[in-house]
Amino acid sequence: MVDVKKIKENVSKVTNRISSSKLPTHKHCRICGTSISPSSDPRVCKAQDCIDQHEKNTRNEKQMRIWMFIFFGIFAFIFLSSILRQIV
Ligand SMILES: [Zn+2]
Repeated sequence: MVDVKKIKENVSKVTNRISSSKLPTHKHCRICGTSISPSSDPRVCKAQDCIDQHEKNTRNEKQMRIWMFIFFGIFAFIFLSSILRQIV
């Protein structure tokens, strides 16, 4: 006979273990992966290398976003002008 109660117990144990290991109250540094406190913002540890690298990354991200907007604008312009040409 299969002991359903025991199986359920084991399942709940396993799921508890998974959820507890999934929700640890800490974050990891975006650069080196060291555990840091969850309240730290930006998500980097206190090492100067990581802070510098994070600053560089955010600057690059901003620049990338600007370029994305420019390219999107160009594509939108080409797309719209081709549609307008088809209509006229
Ligand atoms: Zn770090």
